[in-house]
Parts: sequence; structure tokens; C-alpha cells
Amino acid sequence: MTETVKIDIERVLESRLPKTNFDQLPFGKVYTDHMFVADYRDREWKNARIIPYGYLPVSPASPAIHYGQSIFEGIKAHKSPKGEILIFRPHDNHKRLNISGERMCMPPVPEDLFMEGMRELIELDRAWIPSGEGASLYIRPFLFSADEYIGIRPSEAFTFMIILSPSGAYYSDPVKVKIETHFTRAVAGGTGYAKAGGNYGGAIYPAKLAQDQGYHQLIWTDGREHKYIEESGTMNVMFVVNGKLITPALSDSILAGITRDSVLQLVRSWNLEVEERKISVEEIVTGLKAGTVQEAFGVGTAATIAPIVLIGHEDKNYHLPPVEEWGLAPRILQELNDIKYGLKADPLGWIYKL
Ligand SMILES: *Cc1c(COP(=O)(O)O)cnc(C)c1O
Repeated sequence: MTETVKIDIERVLESRLPKTNFDQLPFGKVYTDHMFVADYRDREWKNARIIPYGYLPVSPASPAIHYGQSIFEGIKAHKSPKGEILIFRPHDNHKRLNISGERMCMPPVPEDLFMEGMRELIELDRAWIPSGEGASLYIRPFLFSADEYIGIRPSEAFTFMIILSPSGAYYSDPVKVKIETHFTRAVAGGTGYAKAGGNYGGAIYPAKLAQDQGYHQLIWTDGREHKYIEESGTMNVMFVVNGKLITPALSDSILAGITRDSVLQLVRSWNLEVEERKISVEEIVTGLKAGTVQEAFGVGTAATIAPIVLIGHEDKNYHLPPVEEWGLAPRILQELNDIKYGLKADPLGWIYKL
């Protein structure tokens, strides 16, 4: 798309908004009236349009269905007390979508198509954005192969879409996690750093086994030796050990979370010590036994911060100090929320105002 993006709009005849119960908004189950769609054909993006939210016509031979030729993003918008719509770091999600796309042999989505599609869609469905503490609009951009061909080769046709889901106050109760030392989420040289559909499909079974044992989710370890900590569920993971914030260094088997980056920038701006490096399972287990691991938490767009209260490893469970005694994670959460809801200045330029 070279000129400014032209978006055709077909509105719904009747909004579903009056029939939607905003007191009961389970995450990811309610979608707004409209969706954004653009087609990639003959090496060009075309037909940018907003249409009523609904089922898609997809070829049963689409490589998206057969081979997981599909990538996605997750972004949140919040309503400030003044009624402004504030989106958190959407340009970074755009960049990451194209990093995932390169790995999956998909064409880049131009920034203006991504941003204008999102802007116009949110503008049209702005009445769906919940207000109030903790509430947000979850934005899900995604890109998939629209070829009609089950041979394995780079696709020629793609569909880029954005759907919106209002979500109620999302507070993460402290979670129990198990260090996974058998199954693998991502390996060196694989697709772990891409937000690619198949990474998640394959992670459900090991997570379910852990849930059957009473854990909420997994801490993934490296695929080669299962000796080093990588991520927690679908979040990045951080620890406070002896007052220092530590997190696994990025690699091609770790997703470069935007929340992770935000937390690191914030904590560095407070002149606190941060380490991005390899973290061995042994270091964490030894620290849990010795009481030097003071805090542990997942970081990601959905929950922002998910405190971990218990870590299981090889049939033993280790407790962290009660969350009420934590210092850093609650401070980070408060600061990030204040920035996201426009209650505080945004010194690092993270907020995109609609
Ligand atoms: C999306 C995701 C994250 C978190 O990324 P954010 O940009 O912070 O939402 C972390 N790990 C995995 C595997 C993810 O898919």
C-alpha cells in the first residue's frame, strides 16, 4: 500500500452492544460489532475493509489450517478517566508481527495498514471499550495464509485481520507453576521467538498435564538440556533474587515480550539492578531452598504481572514469600497501570492516543 490506506466500511445493521453484559466479560469470548480485513494478492495488499464481525470464508485447503501458517499479536487499549482511548505500544506489536512473518515466510504488513486498520476499527467500535479500573479492550491482529493449495511451499495469498474483545478487570490470582523438564515449547533454530500459531497448539498438552497435578501453568526450560529457564506459560518470567531483578536473556526460543521490555526499561529507569542472562533451574531451586528468591512473576499483555506463589520441580514444591511482602512486582504493576490508564506521565513514549 503506497498511498494512505483507504478502508471501505460496512456497518452492522443492529449493534449487539445493548445485549452484551459488561458485568460478565470472560477473557476472549466477547467480540465487538466489526472486524478489519485486508487481502494480499498478486504481491500487493488490497481490499482493506471493515465489515460486521462474523465467520470467514476460508478454503478447506488453506495452509493456515493444515500447516499452521498463521501468526498473531496481542495489544491492549484502555480508557482514561477523561475518556481518552490509550493504546499501549502498538508500533512495537507491528514490528514483532513482521518479525514473526519473516520466520513463517509471510509478507510484511505495512505499518500504515496495521495502524490505520486498528484506528478506524476501534473508532467505529469505541462504545465497546469498557471503562473502570482494570478493564480494557484486547486487540488481536493476525495474519494467515489464504492459499488454496495443500502443497508445502511459500504461500501467495494472505489475509490480515484485526478483531477486538472487551475485557473486564483482569486480575491474576497468584499462580502455582511447575518447572517442565520433559516437554519442550521451543528449540534453538525453531519458531519460539515468533508469535506463530503452532507454538501454542503444541503447548496445551503439557500444560494440561501440569493442571491435572494441581498447577496453573508451566515454566518452560530449554529444549536441549532442560537446564535453563525460558518462559512461564505464554508469558516471560522474572525473579527477584537478593534484591536484584533477573530474567532469561532473549534467544530464538524465547518470545520477546513487550511487557518484558517495558518492565526492564522501567526498573532500569529507577536505577535498580537488572540482569538479563541465562538462569539455570538449579540456581532457582537452590535459591528457593535458601530463601533468596524473594519474588517470581510472569509478565505479558493479558495480566501484565502474574505473581507466582509456588514452584514445583521434580515432585517437590517450593513456596515463595507471601505476595503481601513483595516490593518490586507490585510497584511495577502500579506504575505500568498508571501509565496505561493515563494517570501518570508517559516518559518513555509508550502510549498511542487514538
Ligand atoms: C505474547 C507472548 C509473551 C508476552 O508478550 P507481550 O508482548 O508482553 O504480551 C511472552 N511469551 C510468549 C510465548 C508469548 O506468546
